[in-house]
Amino acid sequence: MIRHLKSDCANCFGLCCVALPFARSADFPLDKNSGEPCQNLSSSHQCLVHKSLKEKGFNGCVSYECFGAGQHVSQTLYKGEDWRSHANKSKEMFVVFPIVQQLHEMLWYLQQAIRLKETSIIHEEIREMIIDLEGNTNESPQYLMDLDIQQQRMNVNELLLQTSESYRKNKSSGQKLVRHDYIGAHLNGQNLQGANLRGKLLIAANLKHTNLSFADFIGADLRDANLSAANLTGALFLTQSQINSAKGNHMTVLPDFIERPNHWLT
Ligand code: SF4
Repeated sequence: MIRHLKSDCANCFGLCCVALPFARSADFPLDKNSGEPCQNLSSSHQCLVHKSLKEKGFNGCVSYECFGAGQHVSQTLYKGEDWRSHANKSKEMFVVFPIVQQLHEMLWYLQQAIRLKETSIIHEEIREMIIDLEGNTNESPQYLMDLDIQQQRMNVNELLLQTSESYRKNKSSGQKLVRHDYIGAHLNGQNLQGANLRGKLLIAANLKHTNLSFADFIGADLRDANLSAANLTGALFLTQSQINSAKGNHMTVLPDFIERPNHWLT
């Protein structure tokens, strides 16, 4: 993973813990509005329950990834000014942060796409899109707030769809998941090599010993999916956030750009 597209909490002022709203759910034990600091955030922007997030019900924090937007907004766009001591800018920061998070997420996918030999025919288009998005992330807060982020998403999505088609061609086992909803489904031991899992709901699905190599995971919801001993070699558009939200073990085969979560069984 490119370093600047990975969260670096030490260089962020806890923006995700303030700017984002929470709704009481399986992911958060309490409600919180946007702009309201989480009750667990210290005055020095440290999470006071960092080591026990799952035990305390903050599963959403375990799986959240800002793709480096936090440190970019804190250190580059606002030049080290934090929201506590620059209260006049805090509202603006909380609007800008999720916009930059989306741009960084798109950049993360595009960085993966441009490294694939299967996408060589569209490398130039991908490169131009990366330059365009990176340029946007360095614009002024007002420019970012006026940006048509949905249009940006649609433009990027076209390239990611082409990437997925090219990458999975000739790799698929032929088995397809035709439904959208596979919540709690028993897919254990199946051969889903090269499958299109785009946006699939795989919450709490049993994926033990499943061959998921070269599958496209973009937008798939893997919360509490059991990936024990599953094979995710060459998985496309798989994020650390998705893996952090799932279950797995030491036998789960992960791509080299994904770290094995500490909370997985050993
Ligand atoms: S629990 Fe910790 S990581 Fe989650 S929002 Fe609160 S301070 Fe941030």
